[in-house]
Amino acid sequence: LRGPLMSDIALVLGIRPDVIRASKIIELIDDFPEFNLDFIWSGQHYSENMKDIFFQQLNVRKPDFEFNIDGETDADVVSSTIASLYNHLRDHSYKAVIFLGDTNTVMGSLAVAQHNIPIIHIEGCMRSYDWRMPEEKYRTTVDHLSDRIYAYLDQYKTQGLNEGIGERRIMVTGNPIVDIINENKELFDQGLDLLDDELKKVVQEGGYVLATCHRRENILDSESLNSIINLMNSIDDKIIFPMGYKTQEQVSKLNIKINDNIKVIDPIGYIEFMYILDNAKYTISDSGTVVEEACILGIPSIQVRKSTERPEVYEVNASVKFSPTEDADYKKIIMAVENLIGTKWEHPFGDGLASERIAKDIRDMYIKDSFNRHSREDYPFNTDRSYMS
Ligand code: UDP
Repeated sequence: LRGPLMSDIALVLGIRPDVIRASKIIELIDDFPEFNLDFIWSGQHYSENMKDIFFQQLNVRKPDFEFNIDGETDADVVSSTIASLYNHLRDHSYKAVIFLGDTNTVMGSLAVAQHNIPIIHIEGCMRSYDWRMPEEKYRTTVDHLSDRIYAYLDQYKTQGLNEGIGERRIMVTGNPIVDIINENKELFDQGLDLLDDELKKVVQEGGYVLATCHRRENILDSESLNSIINLMNSIDDKIIFPMGYKTQEQVSKLNIKINDNIKVIDPIGYIEFMYILDNAKYTISDSGTVVEEACILGIPSIQVRKSTERPEVYEVNASVKFSPTEDADYKKIIMAVENLIGTKWEHPFGDGLASERIAKDIRDMYIKDSFNRHSREDYPFNTDRSYMS
């Protein structure tokens, strides 16, 4: 079917939750006969339990191209992705390149802009309105570079419109994490069997808390990391804490004492993690995806963040905010989350059809060849401000 002049679409991903969230979109797009999807892995996450295990467990096909990141800092990851992608784009012709989220990998979009190829952004127009977060700068940048934006919720679209992004460029799709949870429930049920004996025992006894913590602003600042661990140290329940490698490094460097009821382990696979989450009393997390997953599963959370681009979890009363450098009354926070146990809410993240909407729209736009901005209306900062609030 593919003629010599046809070009493909590329998708660039690079971290653990990208594999999870985009797994169905990849599968759907791969089935389209009109074009090939070139799946590129930036190399931002590379280890077995931050990358490979998610491909295996969710049956995601291998990337077509994998870049190697040279170095460790944010600047290394971004510059390496830009340089690798720029070179790649010299040899491959794409009608558009897709990015997801607000990571260093997403800043590879600058290479796509340099080649003047249309950019598609999944997870567009989320805002924390906290300009001190590098992710906020990344999100804003990629949205304003993009020719097509998939915003999960209506309010995210409104945020984009308020920045002057052309209405026609933003499509509201729902959040694809709902699709993944709906479709893999049976897989998650197998999670218990994947745990080692010690962890299995804790999970089977029940009444435990699940914790994760990895955000720069939380772990690189010693006051903040101390406060997060002190919150956990004031909890009597057992806590299962799959701790990111950088967090482990910081805890040991800062010599922070962790109570014995907190079981620190290396990051674990998705099936195991979702089983543990689904059976927890509540979760303590600074992960954007984990608070969404908890909210969808009906598990209360303490969201460990001064500011968030996901305020919906507070609006439906599924989550309690803990700002590590501002909130010192740990008992109050713990009591607030305990009060949410057993309460019901309707999660606000959509109907489970987001991946289909995104894949179908990409196909439609490919067929119509309409990725490029066509008129003044499609530009940010256009002169029609009538929709601005
Ligand atoms: N997760 C996992 N194993 C772990 C910790 C998290 O499978 O040990 C999953 C979790 O269910 C969620 C995603 O990884 O889907 C969250 O990744 P992360 O916290 O790194 O990223 P963020 O959501 O903050 O971008």
